[in-house]
Amino acid sequence: MAATSVVIPWAAVAHRVRGTLAYRGVAAWPPPVRAVLLDRDGTLVHDVPYNGDPELVRPVDDAARALARLRAVGLRLGLVTNQSGIGRGRLTPAAVAAVNARVESALGPFETVQVCPHAPEEGCACRKPGPGLVLRAAAALGVAPHECVVVGDIGADVGAALAAGAHVVLVPTPVTRPQEVATAPVVAPTLLNAVEIVLRLAGRAAHGRFAEAHPAAAPRGAGADPSGPLAPPAAGTLALAGEVRT
Ligand SMILES: [Mg+2]
Ligand SMILES: [Zn+2]
Repeated sequence: MAATSVVIPWAAVAHRVRGTLAYRGVAAWPPPVRAVLLDRDGTLVHDVPYNGDPELVRPVDDAARALARLRAVGLRLGLVTNQSGIGRGRLTPAAVAAVNARVESALGPFETVQVCPHAPEEGCACRKPGPGLVLRAAAALGVAPHECVVVGDIGADVGAALAAGAHVVLVPTPVTRPQEVATAPVVAPTLLNAVEIVLRLAGRAAHGRFAEAHPAAAPRGAGADPSGPLAPPAAGTLALAGEVRT
């Protein structure tokens, strides 16, 4: 590992995704995935710290489409979100509920919505990276934690998933720490790509190829991976400072 400050070209993240898939292999992914538990801020909607205003809810690109694909194959959906603004006195539970309702009106319903309202110093078991929210969501859906895939944007989401015994796909944003990217079991460049990975590994994709799932996506330069192109990111590169694992 190199501990230098760098900018990771977007292709490096895509390479990491392909490398992870090649390493783990579809067959190595344990039994059926039945539910997908999604982080809210920075994953489904652009992060607005301590947001209590539904008017500020802005879904990320393709979020509605990504979730529709999961619902279409019968996967159960849950929302798992840390809202420490409540514990810090900066948000009311009602404001958080109003924002969650706006997210559902924009992206469709979740069968369970699990919120940790605690501040970090309260030492609760539900605040991610603790396992509580994932365990509660799984229980609410009547599935086992190992039948769940958590999709989130930071290391706390990865930690919560692993602590609960769930699978996880990290979709980094420019504020995701490089170490969190480097240590996540599976990384996807976009939410839609994360959904494709979930479908593929759950054995529910039509043919299991990004190219077929994404006919309109342009290959990334000459010599594009024959396993298929990944959709290009919104910005040309994902700037990250710090450690890169090659
Ligand atoms: Mg987040
Ligand atoms: Zn909590």
